[in-house]
Amino acid sequence: MSSQIDHLLDETRRFPPSEEFIAQTISSPELYERAAADREAFWGEQSRELVHWHKPFTQVLDWTNPPFAKWFDDGELNVAYNCLDRHVEAGNGDRVALHWEGEPGDSRRITYAELTDEVKRVANVLEGLGVGQGDRVAIYLPMIPEAIASMLAVARLGAIHSVVFGGFSADSLRSRIDDAGAKLVITADGGYRKGRVSALKPAVDQALADRGDGEQQTVEHVLVVKRGENDVDWVEGRDVWWHDVVPAASSEHTASAFPAENPLFILYTSGTTGKPKGILHTSGGYLTQAAYSHKYVFDLHPETDVFWCTADIGWITGHSYVAYGPLANGATQVLYEGTPDTPHPGRWWEIIEKYKVSIFYTAPTAIRSFMKIGRSVPQKFDLSSLRLLGSVGEPINPEAWMWYRDVIGAGKTPIVDTWWQTETGAIMVSALPGVTETKPGSAQVPLPGISIDVVDESGVEVGNGNGGLLVITEPWPSMLRGIWGDPERYRETYWEKFEDQGYYFAGDGARLDEDGDLWLLGRVDDVMNVSGHRLSTAEIESSLVAHEATAEAAVVGASDETTGQAVVAFVIIKESYLAAHEPAGLAQLLRLWVGEQIGAIARPRDVYIVGELPKTRSGKIMRRLLRDVAEGREVGDTTTLADTAVMSIISAQVK
Ligand code: ATP
Ligand code: MG
Repeated sequence: MSSQIDHLLDETRRFPPSEEFIAQTISSPELYERAAADREAFWGEQSRELVHWHKPFTQVLDWTNPPFAKWFDDGELNVAYNCLDRHVEAGNGDRVALHWEGEPGDSRRITYAELTDEVKRVANVLEGLGVGQGDRVAIYLPMIPEAIASMLAVARLGAIHSVVFGGFSADSLRSRIDDAGAKLVITADGGYRKGRVSALKPAVDQALADRGDGEQQTVEHVLVVKRGENDVDWVEGRDVWWHDVVPAASSEHTASAFPAENPLFILYTSGTTGKPKGILHTSGGYLTQAAYSHKYVFDLHPETDVFWCTADIGWITGHSYVAYGPLANGATQVLYEGTPDTPHPGRWWEIIEKYKVSIFYTAPTAIRSFMKIGRSVPQKFDLSSLRLLGSVGEPINPEAWMWYRDVIGAGKTPIVDTWWQTETGAIMVSALPGVTETKPGSAQVPLPGISIDVVDESGVEVGNGNGGLLVITEPWPSMLRGIWGDPERYRETYWEKFEDQGYYFAGDGARLDEDGDLWLLGRVDDVMNVSGHRLSTAEIESSLVAHEATAEAAVVGASDETTGQAVVAFVIIKESYLAAHEPAGLAQLLRLWVGEQIGAIARPRDVYIVGELPKTRSGKIMRRLLRDVAEGREVGDTTTLADTAVMSIISAQVK
């Protein structure tokens, strides 16, 4: 079967960087030239420039035992020292590291000197609780400064963190604690979400309770931050209040040097396609690429910029672009605890106005939910501090891209659409905002130093103008080093498909346009085959979203007796439109619209108007569940779904 995708919307809008932007940008086309001349030397340079090495490395890459890479292997560093102490030593201790905003409106301003002190105290406490190099620590916290301090304190000791998103259930937490064999859990009584306190400690208690015979309990202590002021149960001897021990601890703590390949963290993927995988990242290569990509993709001017990445620290985006990238670069950033619409739908825009955010990084799902409410909400706020916008997590439809640029970016800010994965550790594909002419909906080009290609099923390049499978053809510094405890699954999942070529298979479909720019087409598993034509979910969704009635759309292929597979669409209609039109008429209108835009072959067999779409906690659409509904099957594993009730509502609407 060919892996060609049969059609793609023609998008002809182009946005070169403005003169004003070019005049101040830190990047230049020279980066591409240097990386192309000698890729490994380039990464060596970047690492020496962006990272402080306690002991310098002499070799950049060891790829003698693929797919197990070693980067900067004989070098030694301390990741937390890189994110904290060195900025203070360089005289930047008074710079704000975090502008933290709690959901109820309380706030804290924390400088690099203060954060360094706090992390040293926490490191001393953790050491006192028996945590040392290589031990695993589970972090189950809301988006509060203590979450960042905990990650850095664990890193400072050469231990390994496993951050579990605070919205996950006791069961999810338990399986992650057990998989990693965590020694310590850091949690809070609760945190604020949607205007009320959502408890966290009970889930930890439950995850650690009820062990059957022979089941090992690895957790020795639970360190608890008081945030929600809600009542909690207490296990004497096991549980420790943060406020009892951290302020009393010494703020003297010397950061030891650890080998470049010392593990830094385990993080589970979102589970969009199946059971989450425990992805392992190590220190030197990860920090190098996190810092490098943060600096150049976001054109960071650490003295003047205010950076805000809205991702939760429970996701890789929160690791690389809330914790490690920005702090390694000495950036000032915003950290927000709550939801975008609490207590009012303009909360995010209010925060941008309040802190004069200049660089803003969020996900298409958020952008589309703001589009659904309408531009009048953001227009009530002063967003003129913004100079650069970023997107991550899913393909951004051209219409959402344009709305983002026009409404949030005043029609002038560059947009960087960044493609990467938990496994890649850092951004791999993106425009460089001062260099690249951007195209709405295209993630565009690999970063300097990164080698990406689009190939067919047999690993042969498809060439410009064609679609196929996205592969990474050369190892990269922040690549995953494995799946925790399962080297065989690592090999099978990512390397087996193109074993002969030695390519990493990302699982995503992509197309190269005539200029060689990349367009992400969605998961390979989601590509549909209708009467022998291969169609991309992303493309049909973009077409649906391009209609003025549509706020959001998800498309799946459902088995069909005559065509093999048929296109089935689930669509959320904008509030203004829904009030004025009949659902049945709208569904027919959208079917015809897709037929006109792409061709009759892509016209959905069914269009269901729904109120919500099933999404992971990180906001990605879970198409596999919609496919279950469209094919009349029992709905599959929903444990990483943000709202499990959504699926029963959708099932009812479809029947
Ligand atoms: P799982 O691997 O468990 O199914 P997941 O792939 O959703 O979960 P993540 O690592 O959080 O977990 O997401 C990475 C995926 O997100 C990519 O493989 C890609 O499908 C999608 N993605 C991320 N950024 C972009 C982007 N800018 N454009 C298109 N797709 C993107
Ligand atoms: Mg994935």
